Order: sequence, then structure tokens, then C-alpha cells
Amino acid sequence: MSASPFRVVHTVCSHDCPDSCGVLVTVNDEGRAVKVAGDPKHPVTQGFLCGKVAKYLDLVYAPERILYPLKRKAGVGKGPLPRGREHEAFERVSWDEALDAIAARLKRIAEEFGPESILPYSYAGTIGVLGFGSMDRRFFHRLGASQLDRTICSEAGGEAWKLVYGKKLGTPTEDFRLAKLVLAWGANIHGNNVHLWPMVEQARRNGARLIVIDPYKTRTAALADWHIAIRPGTDAALALGMMRVILNEGLEDRAYIDEMTHGFAELAERVREYTPERVAAWTGMTASEIEQLAREYATTKPAALRLNYGVQRAEFGGNAVRAIAMLPALTGAWKHRGGGGQLSTSGAFEWDKKAVERPDLALASPLGRLGRVVNMSALGEALAVQGSGVRGQGSGKAEARLEDDPSVHALFVYNSNPAAVAPNQNAVRRGMARDDLFTVVHELFLTDTTDYADYILPAATFLEHTDIQGAYGHYFVQLSQQAIEPPGEARSNVWLFSQLAQRMGFEEECFRDTAEALIRQALAIGADKHSTNAGMEHITIEDLKEQGHIPLGFHLSPETAPFQPYTSGCVPTPSGKVEFYSESLASQGLDPLPDFKPPTESRFGELAKRFPLEFLSRKADNYMNTTFANLDGHRKMEARKSQRLEMHPADAEARGIGDGDVVRVWNDRGELKLTALINARLPVGVVAGQMDWAKLSASGGNVNALTSERLTDIGAGATFYSTLVEVAKVSAKQPQ
Ligand code: SF4
Repeated sequence: MSASPFRVVHTVCSHDCPDSCGVLVTVNDEGRAVKVAGDPKHPVTQGFLCGKVAKYLDLVYAPERILYPLKRKAGVGKGPLPRGREHEAFERVSWDEALDAIAARLKRIAEEFGPESILPYSYAGTIGVLGFGSMDRRFFHRLGASQLDRTICSEAGGEAWKLVYGKKLGTPTEDFRLAKLVLAWGANIHGNNVHLWPMVEQARRNGARLIVIDPYKTRTAALADWHIAIRPGTDAALALGMMRVILNEGLEDRAYIDEMTHGFAELAERVREYTPERVAAWTGMTASEIEQLAREYATTKPAALRLNYGVQRAEFGGNAVRAIAMLPALTGAWKHRGGGGQLSTSGAFEWDKKAVERPDLALASPLGRLGRVVNMSALGEALAVQGSGVRGQGSGKAEARLEDDPSVHALFVYNSNPAAVAPNQNAVRRGMARDDLFTVVHELFLTDTTDYADYILPAATFLEHTDIQGAYGHYFVQLSQQAIEPPGEARSNVWLFSQLAQRMGFEEECFRDTAEALIRQALAIGADKHSTNAGMEHITIEDLKEQGHIPLGFHLSPETAPFQPYTSGCVPTPSGKVEFYSESLASQGLDPLPDFKPPTESRFGELAKRFPLEFLSRKADNYMNTTFANLDGHRKMEARKSQRLEMHPADAEARGIGDGDVVRVWNDRGELKLTALINARLPVGVVAGQMDWAKLSASGGNVNALTSERLTDIGAGATFYSTLVEVAKVSAKQPQ
């Protein structure tokens, strides 16, 4: 029998998505990937991929991939370049030339302004352990660079959840099929958590109801039994109002509360003020809807809450997540298999991060300590020059601030596209356009950010390097094996920072570690070849190579020993209980109980007199933030919403705007020109636009031209969904 000309390699989708799919890549005998498919053996992936990654080879083999290092041509200024003409600003150089020049420049900047004037900027362009943060962290620690506070996505919600439960754990995704009620709060399951959807469908076939709370009628909301179109930023009021109804009607689980929680009496006192009538005035619901929701949630068992990160991207989003997270503790929903809740499962993966990231290397830096902390959600402010009067908000984490606060003179971007995704885009671009800022970008494509680069370095996709990965939507460790060689001279993050460290003269052996060595360190492999990390003691690299995925220890026998977090024993909070009342907040002089305040930028604030519409900067279902947005096939899937401003008919009529008219959307930070799409998928007073590349937009900016750098109440995260705007008609729809 002749050998097959194809081999199948197990990889893991490293895009920023809770599902972390096992991906089988078929590679032909010429080393070219010819097919990607979901791993049928993975209990969550279940053999299928989402629409964006099913077309992943369009990205891998896109003719526009950056294949070689590029250097800005002498005399060419920084700034937006038309799509397709970016190459005119750059010339090809060798890796040797690029690495030598970058190392020399970083050394000069560190000597002249101090190493903290160098700022790394990265996020979850890849969420593999190595790709997200390993050799890069070692490099910047050893250099003494500023540390980046990675707050842009989930920090407010994550910190809030931990205040209640100590750790980010949740109901296993597979168990949602057992629920009788699924409450999707700010969670577009059908759009961007697609492997939870089959579980929800199975639950519904068994009689479960699906309730969706979301200001926007997402795909999930459109399929729900009940869609509650809450006003943006009022989620905490609703959760506190639900608690009041539950307590008034005696629907709480006293046994669970007595055994597992702390601060119930204080919480009961706090929620008394949240009458259904008051909550109705904030949320736009009726008092009887609030009562009905609370009763249905508290009396249906099992009730599963899927809370996602949209809720926490509001000014008081931390308090909102805290209040919502308390609901399953109040009703004892954790006790019923298939009930409970999930924001993230990431707390279950106890990688040996110290070994991987080596913060101790900072002791060998010229600073002799870790660098200052700069908040990525306030990049525009961070890039403003010291003394300009613009800087000031800083990290948002006061204890990490240092008195000596030099201007940023070098920006090193990887795994991110800040000129498009960071809030207050015009401020970010002003900063990035500074002539005295040295910028390096490691990327797959020429993006809004590479328009500001001095050097562009070609990056690798998850098919092109080895990594290990957990998930924030399931409990499986997976090995991502390299399936193909990177095209051209594209290289992984690990390779890049290892090479650069050596050019900088960093002599520590750890800068020569291979990806395989880093994986062994992440797993803390012991003498018997098994991991020594909590929950991973049964895992070996050999088994991972063979099986692709292995469940964490507590999830090995889901049928006979199901995992139900927060149901017994000690909860990892200061009190050892689920905390309704936070002792740690109290000790900092902060409010120890959840509360509701309307966002400054909302219909309830002063600014609404000038900018009366609440603006939702939505993510496209078929892009991953800005990844995929440059690919024609993906753009086609988003054609109906792309470059549109969705408006309620009442808001459009009040402004004389008709469907298809060109409109101007603006506030004090910026403006956009979009085409009106009139529909009733939003509450009155709320408009929505979708994230896109600025350079692919008619007005040369995207939704972040309107968003602000104001930070969340907990976690100092980004507040994308607390944005006020006004809208006016520019021109009528052109006849077709
Ligand atoms: S983006 Fe999410 S759903 Fe799509 S393949 Fe990746 S992990 Fe799976």
C-alpha cells in the first residue's frame, strides 16, 4: 500500500476566543496546508470551526502577507497610507540588518532616556502560552522596559469576578446542555462563542429557555425566547434589582448562602434601594419585566449564566460584573449540575508563568527592578510627551506608578493593531506619528499600525510555530504543533525576541531556549516527565503529542465526577467564602458592596445634552477584532453591516435621516462618516457601528475615533461601550 501524500497535524486556534478549538491541518507532500478542520475528538470543538477560521488558509496564503522585514525609507513620514500602496514607504531589508538596527536603536534610547522609555504593546493576537507572553516578557524584563498593563479586553470583568470568587472558574461548557434556563448576559454565543451554541440548542431541545440581555439584537438575541434590550451601562442596576426581588420573595438559597458565602446581610441591606421601579427607569425595562426575570431565574433549576466581556467595557462595568456574578450564589445555582455560570475558565490553567516570563531578569536590567506600568487602554495619553499637559491618567493602578515617568521613545508592537483597536484613535495616532518615536511592528499584514512603523517584521500564524494552550471557555490543555513552514521569512514571537536579546548582548542562557524548552517550563515538567502544575499532574508532553488535548485533572471524569465550582470547601477569597462583601475593598477604603452608577457618557449624564446618543462600537462576527478584516471573503460575510451606522427608526426620523443616507457621527474626540442602516435592533437612543480597519473606511478612521480613554471602575480597563455621540445627515442616499 502506498503511503498517503498527506499528513494531518494537530494545532490549536490561537485567536482571542473562548473556544480554543483543536484544529486538524492537512498538509500535502509539498509542505502546503490544504485543509483545516475542527478536531472531532475534542469534546468542545466537536469537529467544526467558526466561519472565520474555516477559511483560515485564505489568511495563511494571502498574497498580501508580509514575507520579509521592511524598513521605512529615508525621508518618508509616518501616517495613514492608502491600502495597496504601503510598500512605497518601505524597503526590504534582511533580518540581520533589521535586528542589528533595532537593537542599536533600543540601546541608544535606553541610554539616553532610560529603559522605561521603551514600551512593549501586545495583547491577544495569539493566546498560546508562548505566543502571548514568554520570550518577549523575558526580553523586556531584562531590558528594564515599561511593563504593559494588559487591560484592553477583560480586566474589569476578570478582577470583578475574582473579588467574588477568588479565581476565574465556571460551569464546564459541556454542562450547559443540562440547563433548564440559559441566561446569556452580554454574550453573543451564536456569534463568537459558537461551540457553546450546540450545548444551548441541546438544552433547549430538552425544554430549556434562552434569555438574552443585550442592548443589541445579536444573532443570539434574535434566536432567544426572550430578548431584553437593556440600555448600555445599566446592567448593575438590573442585577441588583433582581436580587431585591429574589430576597423580597424568599427565593434565595439559604443553605448555600449560610455554608458558602460571606456578607449576605450587608448585601441584603444594599439591594433594598433597588426597587423594580427605580431599576426600570435606568434600564428601560418595565418593573414587571424585572420581577418576571428575577423569578424565572431564581426558580428554574438548573439555571446557567453565560456572562461575557461586553458588559464590563463600560465605565462602571466592574461593578456590573460583580453584581451579576453574585446571582448564582444568591440562588445556589452552582449546586445544580448544568447550573452556575461562566465568565471565563482561564483561572484553572496554572502554568508556571514565572519560569516562562522570568520577571527576575529585571534585577539584571539597568533599573535593577521591574519597570513602571503603563496602561494599554490609555495609549494615546502614554504616547503624549511628558510636559505636554495631555498625560496624566497613567496606569490606573496607583501602586504600580513610579515618580520618574519618562516619555515613551520606543514602541514595540506585536499581537496587536493599536492604531485600530485602542480607544481614542486620534490621540493614539497623534502619538504614533511623533518623529521622535521609534516604532517596530511584528505583523502578518500591512495594517493601520504598520503605517507608523520604522521597521515591520513578518510574523507567523498558529500553523507555523509550536505552542501550548489552555482556554477561557473550556478545561482542556492542548499542544499546537507546527504544521507548515512559515512563508518567506516570517518568524514566531519566540524566535524574534530570542534573536533580538542576543543582539542586545543579553547573555542569560534562557534567551536561547527553544519553543520545546519553553513548553516544558510552562508545564513545569518533573523528573517523571509529568507536569508538576496543579491540575496538570497527569499530563506529559508525549501524551499531548499523541492525543492533542488532555482535560485538567478535575475534569477527567465528567460523567462520574462532574466539576461544579464553588460548591464545597474553601473558595480562594480572603474570607474563604464567596464574597458578597469584599473585605479587601473595605480595607482599601472602597465600597465593599456592588453598586450602580450611570456612566458619565450615558443618557443620564450632563454630556448627553450635547451628545444625546449612546454609541456601541461593535465587533464583527466574522472578524476577530481587526484580524481577518482585510480578507475579501471575510469582508463579504460582513458586507451588510460594514461601514454602517445602525439607528432606531425614531432616532433617525428625529434627525431627518433615511436608510442609506450618509451621516456624520461625532463627539469631542473625533468623527466618522457612515451610511445609515435604519432598524429596530437597538433601543431608542442607542446607535451602533462595527469595528473595521481605519484604512478601509471611507472617513479614514474607525469606531475608536469616538471612544474614550476613560478607565473602568475595577481593573482599569477600557470603556468602549460608554461613549456618547451625535449624528446628522450629510447627504441623501444615492439612487442605485
Ligand atoms: S476563533 Fe474561536 S470558534 Fe473560531 S476556530 Fe478559533 S477558537 Fe474556534
